[in-house]
Amino acid sequence: MWQKEDLTVRPGMTGLWRIVRRAPLLYAGLAGMIAGGSAAFVEGIRIEHGAVGLYPDEMQAILFLDLFWGAGLGILIAVLWSAFCKKPLSFPRFTCIFIWAWMLTHAAVYVRLSSYGGPDLLWGRFLLLIMLTLPLSILPLVSRSCQMWSVGLDGWAVAWFSAWLCAAELLLVSVGYPLLVLSTGVLDGKARWSGPAYAVAALPCLFLVFWSVLKTAGRGGRGLLGLFVAVVALCFCIEPAARGIRYLAARRSAEAPNLILISIDSLRADRAYCHGKMPALQRYASGGSLLTAANSQASWTLPSHASLFSSRYPAEHGAGRPQGSGLSPEVLTLAEILAQHSYETVAFTGGGWLSPYFGMDQGFAVFDTHGEMLLRPDYNPLSMLLFPNFERRADYWRIKVENWLKRRFAQRTPFFLFLHTYQVHDYFKNAPYLAAHLKRAGARYDPHFLLPQLSTNSDENARGGDHILVAPPNQIAYLETLYDAAASYLDSELEGILKRLSHEDLSRKTLVILTSDHGEGFKLEPRRLHHGGRLHQDLLHVPMLIRFDGVVPAGQKISTPVASLDLMPTALDLLGIPSPPDMRGVSLKDLIVVGGQPAQRLIFAEEVGYEITADYSRRELAANERQTALIADGIKFIRNLEGEELYDLKVDPDEVQNQLSSKPSLASRLRAATQEFQDRYPCCLTPAGPKEGLSPDLQRQLQSLGYL
Ligand SMILES: [Zn+2]
Repeated sequence: MWQKEDLTVRPGMTGLWRIVRRAPLLYAGLAGMIAGGSAAFVEGIRIEHGAVGLYPDEMQAILFLDLFWGAGLGILIAVLWSAFCKKPLSFPRFTCIFIWAWMLTHAAVYVRLSSYGGPDLLWGRFLLLIMLTLPLSILPLVSRSCQMWSVGLDGWAVAWFSAWLCAAELLLVSVGYPLLVLSTGVLDGKARWSGPAYAVAALPCLFLVFWSVLKTAGRGGRGLLGLFVAVVALCFCIEPAARGIRYLAARRSAEAPNLILISIDSLRADRAYCHGKMPALQRYASGGSLLTAANSQASWTLPSHASLFSSRYPAEHGAGRPQGSGLSPEVLTLAEILAQHSYETVAFTGGGWLSPYFGMDQGFAVFDTHGEMLLRPDYNPLSMLLFPNFERRADYWRIKVENWLKRRFAQRTPFFLFLHTYQVHDYFKNAPYLAAHLKRAGARYDPHFLLPQLSTNSDENARGGDHILVAPPNQIAYLETLYDAAASYLDSELEGILKRLSHEDLSRKTLVILTSDHGEGFKLEPRRLHHGGRLHQDLLHVPMLIRFDGVVPAGQKISTPVASLDLMPTALDLLGIPSPPDMRGVSLKDLIVVGGQPAQRLIFAEEVGYEITADYSRRELAANERQTALIADGIKFIRNLEGEELYDLKVDPDEVQNQLSSKPSLASRLRAATQEFQDRYPCCLTPAGPKEGLSPDLQRQLQSLGYL
């Protein structure tokens, strides 16, 4: 079918047309890819300008890199070939080089991005594509037959693009941006129809595929026609078959409720509860029960979340001990239990401490550590591969979560979705988008405000939080206003997610828990700035909301002291799943649902990682050192390394008057209880780590959060 003279790359439009004519689908597909890549690129720009985006994740970067790096590399190799080899480069070989360069860059970017935990599913899909298309793309290289070259190339294109088209969301990008917008708009809220709609949309592509196959194999290679049809049919069957299997599996567990656990890092309870500070959150909370005296078990992100996930004390689970130790793999987590009960377990987190390196992904099928980050659209391909530049913003997080919920809504299997954001945590970066929220609070945005030693506020490479500890006194008030603005901004983004969760179909079969890992301090005297390294109530008192329409009463405010440790047994109890016996928390189901009163209990919190010294620096604690706090009936007792503190929280909620010397008998009882707790849970049983060094990316994330 091809003549010898057709197979050499020649200059001029006639030569180019001849090439395109010989492999129409390949180049039609490439044109579609370029259109899709451009649409994604434009989409990235739209997101930058605050418009609602549809692909706020790595997809646009992958498409962009595929197109430009792959094509560029292929052309470079071809140019080098023609410069140094006397033998002319045949068109099929040129195309093969292009394809292989493309696939290699594709693989490199996937490997690179999958290290963040995000595109795991895409990675699996990519492997599938490789398996399907590799044999066909090898044909032109190994065969001397012109027909085989032609058939191999078009076969590769057919398999590749049809497999891509089967990946429903990519179909829309490939076919065109207008269809993407139209279908998403039309299908919004009617996600159960998305499968058939995608199938209908795929019909023109199917027609194109068959037309191309018939055209290519028309005068020869008829034997291979069957192979094409089989490959295409297989590609088109995979997605519907997977949907069918999921549907059948779902029918058995359709009644199991979902769980969504939202952790707003560093959100103080008073901000969440104070009228007007976070109106969307408060509106949503009115449909559930608020636990207004909830206490976290640690004062910084890693140990606190590890306790939340495992219902174990920091000394037990090992996360947050010095030298970068993570959650011990021996500890059973909430996600692991739910996964054992056929829950799909997915997390969108802000990364940093919430990363697989620290063992926090235990039990999660998908653990996206860039849940609120977007590759900055500078699209520098080299930096993308070597050192991707990310930016944290709650609108990216909202878009990602909304998209996930939109897609997930169509499936009937139960899920556990963990959502975490550093948006409030990062208030000190004085981001320009906080200006409107400062104005709403009656404050003026200071674009020149910069914490000491920071080179720039928005730079993710800059060290952040530590410098709050050494901020000049006249900056503390502005920092606190910034914190309020960040909470207000987060609330405005949270509104979209909470509205979606309020949708009747979802809210009646979904248990939603919203809490925080710790608060934030703003008092220069006594030393109560920032979080971590101490155990006062500005850090331990956290918001806690439990909403489960039709099960948990609406509008309840419960002032009984409870612990973050209680959330895991409570969630399992409300989901109807048996709890493991060795959890340290108790189920709050009776307290919330029927108004029962739990027995008087002691609530403990711990710091086993570091302490803040008198000169406002961090000192890592030795293996046998720890701080312990005890909360009981409005009384707070803290055992530090330097001494002890005793406060009456009912009259002194800010913990200013240390009553240790004036109440010796009470102090003695609390000291004994603290000692008994420390003896029961010695520090530290099963430390996990330290592992090999932090990756540069993780190191940079932690620095930007102010920890290294
Ligand atoms: Zn935190």
